[in-house]
Amino acid sequence: MPASSYIENPVLGYAAYSAVKFIGYTLFASWIPGFYRKQGRETIQVDANGQIDDDLICSRCKYQLRGLGASARCPECDMSVAESLNDPYRSRVGDPDANPYLAGAVRTFIGMALGYVLYGISQLLPAIPLAVGIILLLPVRFAEWALLLYLFYDRTWSRKAVNERIIMRGVLLSFLLDLPAAMGFCLVSYRLSIC
Ligand SMILES: [Zn+2]
Repeated sequence: MPASSYIENPVLGYAAYSAVKFIGYTLFASWIPGFYRKQGRETIQVDANGQIDDDLICSRCKYQLRGLGASARCPECDMSVAESLNDPYRSRVGDPDANPYLAGAVRTFIGMALGYVLYGISQLLPAIPLAVGIILLLPVRFAEWALLLYLFYDRTWSRKAVNERIIMRGVLLSFLLDLPAAMGFCLVSYRLSIC
């Protein structure tokens, strides 16, 4: 008997599949701004007089520290400038930031929309082996993550190298999440006995 005859509620199953993806993508999105900051930490400029010659912002209160000496204290909150300078997740004015829930939801939606189109196309073609399907899916997933970074983090693609590193991790995450997401689909939409 084909497995499809066991499907009891494909819509709920798909909801479970998408929920797993949403949780994974939201967690990932909450990590993205810190990754941009960490990757940019080597490039903070301090001039010959030991003054901050960059758009560094205070790690505690977000005050712009440009022009202050590295041994000074933040005029707003009194935290030492050196502490912000040495913060591995220090940030600069204009660093990419986004609501992780929104970014996670949009990424999930992009995947659902493209998944719907790809499913439609796959129904018109003869069945292909799973490995071939995964290879064909690779460029789609690269494009999905690139679109998310463009929409939420880097409209001018000015941080190309960091973007590429995030995209690589995102694509890997998408494939890793396929397993628990498929299990969620299975548990919710099929009889438990065959999962
Ligand atoms: Zn401050």
